[in-house]
Amino acid sequence: MYAGLGAAAGAGLAVGAYASLWPGSRVFGAAIAAPARPGELALTFDDGPNATWTPRLLDILAKHQVGATFFLLGSRAAAQPELVRRIATAGHTIGNHSWSHPNLACTRASRVREELRQTSQTLQQIVGAPVKFFRPPFGARRPVVFRIARELGMEPVLWNAMTSDWSEPSADRIAKDLMKKIDGLERRGRAANIVLHDGGHLDAAAHREPSITAAELLLERYAKSHRFVTLDAWV
Ligand SMILES: [Zn+2]
Repeated sequence: MYAGLGAAAGAGLAVGAYASLWPGSRVFGAAIAAPARPGELALTFDDGPNATWTPRLLDILAKHQVGATFFLLGSRAAAQPELVRRIATAGHTIGNHSWSHPNLACTRASRVREELRQTSQTLQQIVGAPVKFFRPPFGARRPVVFRIARELGMEPVLWNAMTSDWSEPSADRIAKDLMKKIDGLERRGRAANIVLHDGGHLDAAAHREPSITAAELLLERYAKSHRFVTLDAWV
């Protein structure tokens, strides 16, 4: 259930900065990627909330009656509490994606703690429930980062299906690339933990139409044959 999928994991060379950015690496402690449950898909969205695209995404998820997991930036959440409440009220899972999206592989421990603590506190104040999941910005981490996340009551989460949706203008291409990965994971007996971006860490008003449309294409393709889950289903 906590296994990473990277072929390099455990290869012996995965130590240092390379390992700290490798999604499947387990060198720095176990994190949730996806369990051995083919047919289960977790849609996860990073870097929001985004005033324009998060509401559009919520409408699409509601239309398909599917729950997703949103890894929010604390700074963006604090500025848009109503939108955060809307995400939670719709039944989606809310996770912590740090306050300001630093690379935590090279951030001192006291600041890591403050980034995570302040974000969890803000989210909890807005939605009235503790935050149970943390995804490190850029997938970057080191042992202390996961330890701090656990001390704050959160399970670290990575992913196993991602493409460059933040820079790819074609929703079709994003969706096709992810479908190839999802189908490959299923053939290997794995669930898919899919990352898309409804926000942008560099730009609060990032244009995310391609990512949101790609999410809709995934829903149309898999809604009848697969089970969409939030990360709560995997702990
Ligand atoms: Zn991010």
